[in-house]
Amino acid sequence: MNPIKYKSIFFDLTEDEIMWKERVDDMLADNLAPHIEDIESGKTEIWDVIRPIAKGGYSAITFPKRFGGLGLSMKHDLICSDAVCAYSLPVDMSRLSGVYPALLIRMFAKSKPMRHYVESLARGKKIGAFCFTEPDAGSDLSRMRTLAEMDDKNNEYILNGEKRFIVNGSVADILVVYARNGAFIVESDWDGFEVIEEYTMMGLKGLHLGHIKFNNIRIPVGNELFYKPMKKESTEAKSGKTASIASMQVMLAPERVALAVQALGVAKTALHTAIKYSQERVQFKRPISEFEGINFKIADMATKFEAAKSLLNRMINSMESATLAAMTKLFCCQAAWEICDDALQILGGIGYTNEYPVERCLRDVRLLRIGGGTDEIMKYVIQKGVYKGDLEKEEGGEKVSYF
Ligand SMILES: Cc1cc2nc3c(=O)[nH]c(=O)nc-3n(C[C@H](O)[C@H](O)[C@H](O)COP(=O)(O)OP(=O)(O)OC[C@H]3O[C@@H](n4cnc5c(N)ncnc54)[C@H](O)[C@@H]3O)c2cc1C
Repeated sequence: MNPIKYKSIFFDLTEDEIMWKERVDDMLADNLAPHIEDIESGKTEIWDVIRPIAKGGYSAITFPKRFGGLGLSMKHDLICSDAVCAYSLPVDMSRLSGVYPALLIRMFAKSKPMRHYVESLARGKKIGAFCFTEPDAGSDLSRMRTLAEMDDKNNEYILNGEKRFIVNGSVADILVVYARNGAFIVESDWDGFEVIEEYTMMGLKGLHLGHIKFNNIRIPVGNELFYKPMKKESTEAKSGKTASIASMQVMLAPERVALAVQALGVAKTALHTAIKYSQERVQFKRPISEFEGINFKIADMATKFEAAKSLLNRMINSMESATLAAMTKLFCCQAAWEICDDALQILGGIGYTNEYPVERCLRDVRLLRIGGGTDEIMKYVIQKGVYKGDLEKEEGGEKVSYF
């Protein structure tokens, strides 16, 4: 694949951020562009490409340098995601999921020895995964069954449960596993760790999506991010509203913004390809861009892209509310899907083949309307926020209605 250097989706980049974007573009042109087709076809293992990128600090961008990161801001991280997704969503998802446990460990772990986990994940020496979803608990995490029991005699927790749809799940070395009564760091080479299956997906080729099981895994005390004693038969264990689930809520808004960035990163490639193709492809003695059926599609696609970008930038600049984060995820991911679909239509038959990246964009971007909270769950969050007055503003000491 030829190196890609698109305009950033972010408004008002500082001098430093512009230089960062150029550095990322150059790094990806050397380290990612040559491998895209081979990852897609299965000739190249995705982590053989991500590992050197992570080694350069491009996975743990916001982490301090002493942990192997680059000590930069969240915005720098998002600029990188946008650029990676213009090439490959599965690479970006694997990269971010690979280091996400280190973020959770840094935020929640109390014990100092945790540093070795953070460092090895941040430097890409180890592959990480984070595990919430279970066969019976998708949108409704209160149905989670995974539970840890304390073995006081041996100073260990004993973990039992099952997780599915876990990015890197079948290849991870270090996993952060959420249970009903806590969250724990688990190493995949411990006794009792089992990979049940690696899923074959519609898109995201190369990404390892695992279904895994924990059979009486013994976890040393100290490896918990938090733990609340709870007996299997207790009402709390059965009711579902656990502290463990509540702790995840803090991560939701940033995660939703990151998913919106990924969506627009992918859509950019489809939009760019469609504009170019429509100007070059001649039918009925003129470029197809001269037909209203085509150029009005381009108008709709470009408008959706700009509207999505505006919402995203407003969210990033203000980090206003969970409601706005859900709106951003919903709108950007839907817009990106529609843009990719229209792009394929503009390319006609060749769009349906892998001669152009558009069919891959369409297959890949579809996931973003499901993963990290489905469209329907975003709407649930949004309507709740709207009725609660989440978007109302204080003006002159008075609450002013937004709508
Ligand atoms: C490629 C991929 C990567 C993923 N990565 C991870 C990961 O790394 N870690 C992890 O823990 N999880 C991961 N997930 C899981 C993902 O977050 C879930 O798939 C998602 O939250 C939806 O859950 P579900 O698939 O069980 O669908 P369900 O919750 O069973 O939903 C099925 C349908 O019902 C709808 N629905 C459910 N409840 C409601 C409601 N109240 N109102 C209206 N409609 C509703 C949904 O919107 C959906 O359309 C991943 C999934 C995929 C496919």
